[in-house]
Amino acid sequence: MNKPFLGSPQNTIAVLQKYNFTFQKKFGQNFLIDTHVLDKIINSAEITKDDMVLEIGPGIGTMTQYLACAARQVIAVEIDKALIPILEDTLSAYDNVTVINDDVLKTDITALAVEHNGGKPLKVVANLPYYITTPIIMGLFESHVPIESITVMVQKEVADRMQVGPGTKDYGALSLAVQYYAKPYIVANVPPNCFMPRPNVGSAVIRLTRHKEAPVTVEDETLMFKIIRASFNQRRKTLANGLNNSPEINLPKELITEAIEELGKGAGIRGETLTLQEFATLSNIISGKL
Ligand code: SAM
Repeated sequence: MNKPFLGSPQNTIAVLQKYNFTFQKKFGQNFLIDTHVLDKIINSAEITKDDMVLEIGPGIGTMTQYLACAARQVIAVEIDKALIPILEDTLSAYDNVTVINDDVLKTDITALAVEHNGGKPLKVVANLPYYITTPIIMGLFESHVPIESITVMVQKEVADRMQVGPGTKDYGALSLAVQYYAKPYIVANVPPNCFMPRPNVGSAVIRLTRHKEAPVTVEDETLMFKIIRASFNQRRKTLANGLNNSPEINLPKELITEAIEELGKGAGIRGETLTLQEFATLSNIISGKL
């Protein structure tokens, strides 16, 4: 198997020129051109020769080459059909890579895990297209695709939001959703000069290790996430007002007031101060009253 060769700017430029490739902004195309960052991603994903890796958006195949060397099998889903002939060329020396030309948001990943990994949990590794970071990550968690970990490059600000707890301005529905499903860990901050073209924002690699058991017990997951969304939709309002005004939650005002009291919080409490455990308890109190 060949060694990865695309990590340098010169080799990336040579491939782009050979195929006369033009970057598509609408697909969030910022290709990695830094071998240290690539090594860091691969190492922090802890890939072994037993693993099946799903790569989202292989681009010209830079990280795919590293993944192919480390994993048993790589499935790479790329939306841009102009990249498919390039991938056939750059990945020709690797016999354990399958490229699928599709939109990852429409791909049946559970079926891929069954077909290529006997239904065992897979690892997701990607330099994500930033315009769809949240739908991709939430889609992977909510669909209950068997996943061990997700190691991805995202916008720095989004990585921060996934990691924080109550009491900070970045804390929100994304923090709670990610932390309900996984343990987040920021592996590295990555500056714009590690990409071609350079993005206008800072980036970070984050590893999300899926919990084996949920960290809180929730009777009705859907209700808890409705409560979380309602609490952060109207950040500056009290929790009671946020829940009363939410079109997603149709509950009598008295029931909401009673539930917040039972949680042991005062009437003026704001949703943004609650922990995941407190949202789970509040959701269970409300479920018990329905
Ligand atoms: N992995 C490459 C690298 O690191 O150099 C490219 C990363 S680039 C940030 C994001 C890639 O995702 C692009 O190749 C882009 O075409 C692809 N992409 C964008 N939207 C996608 C979608 N909905 N489904 C699959 N791939 C997508």
